[in-house]
Amino acid sequence: MAAVTIARLSNAQRVVVKIGSALLTDGKTGKLNRDWLGAFVADVAAMRARGQEMLIVSSGAIALGRRALGLPSGRLKLEESQAAAAVGQIGLAQAFQESLSAHGRNCAQILLTLDDTETRRRYLNARSTLNTLLRLGAVPVINENDTVATSEIRYGDNDRLAARVASMISADCLVLLSDVDGLYTAPPSEPGATHIPEVTDITPEIMAMAGDAASEMSRGGMKTKLAAALIATEGGCHMAIANGRTLHPLKALEEGGRCTWFTARSTPYAARKRWISGGLKTKGTIVVDAGAVDALLHGRSLLPAGITAVQGRFERGDAVSVRDSEGREIARGLSAYSNEDAARILGHNSREIEELLGFAGRAEMIHRDDLVLKKG
Ligand code: GLU
Repeated sequence: MAAVTIARLSNAQRVVVKIGSALLTDGKTGKLNRDWLGAFVADVAAMRARGQEMLIVSSGAIALGRRALGLPSGRLKLEESQAAAAVGQIGLAQAFQESLSAHGRNCAQILLTLDDTETRRRYLNARSTLNTLLRLGAVPVINENDTVATSEIRYGDNDRLAARVASMISADCLVLLSDVDGLYTAPPSEPGATHIPEVTDITPEIMAMAGDAASEMSRGGMKTKLAAALIATEGGCHMAIANGRTLHPLKALEEGGRCTWFTARSTPYAARKRWISGGLKTKGTIVVDAGAVDALLHGRSLLPAGITAVQGRFERGDAVSVRDSEGREIARGLSAYSNEDAARILGHNSREIEELLGFAGRAEMIHRDDLVLKKG
């Protein structure tokens, strides 16, 4: 494996690692593989200790709960898998909590539905909670909220959930650990199937290489992994599909273990800025004073104090245009408040927000991470 691709994991600032049910649990008995989990968490803790921010997306709730409830093998009904997830998630979280605390790390459980990453208001909430946890040194362990997610609001597979999380929090590396060591030109059991070490462009030919490899326990196959690769690379995140069947799978990957790398199409920062400046329709306008224009040009966030007027109807998380008193567009960004709340707090110091709105909101009207300056 080329040094440049290996370094993608060791050099990454923010890493999301997704582990499938087949790694965490024994396929026959459904029991948790504690040794494997311990070794995996030791890798995560070592990377965290080097200063890399680590997030885990873990499957396994349904597999563990199914065993606990004595449900038969084979396909479960939706409500049965939801019940199994409700039981299994407790054991899953506890196992991570125990393993991480052995390394002096806090484990944070986050259960997400599709809505939490697709609806902008909830997206901002989920993102800011994850950012806060990372800042405080905790390791978030994320799963889909299977107990409440029905088909219209569910991902159904943790591959795409992991990719959404990675792009939501601007991660620069996503690793999908599964029982295959990457993408092959044909199913690996077929003669002549060749392993592909790196994919720089996810073409229709590449998409056609994915078979349906989903097992009874996990919903992901190569198709969902390629769908995840599209989301991640578009969001500026490198992604690897690697075999997690060995103990210390991340260490193995860092030492050049076999995998398929999907190359990011830009940096997470550039992808996010492009998304905000071009990809979203603005719902309103925020007019700011000269002091705020100056602060924005110096890379700072927009505070309510610098706002003189609010136009249009928008919700928290919607894109808005920021203009100066002459109507020139200075920037675009995601508003942390609705137009109604913004109108109440404009011109005020951020300390007064709670008193004005009756709840403690964010100090910034638009956080600098959610803001793109207009060129020229
Ligand atoms: N969320 C499911 C679970 O924890 C797994 C989904 C998947 O296998 O991708 O059991």
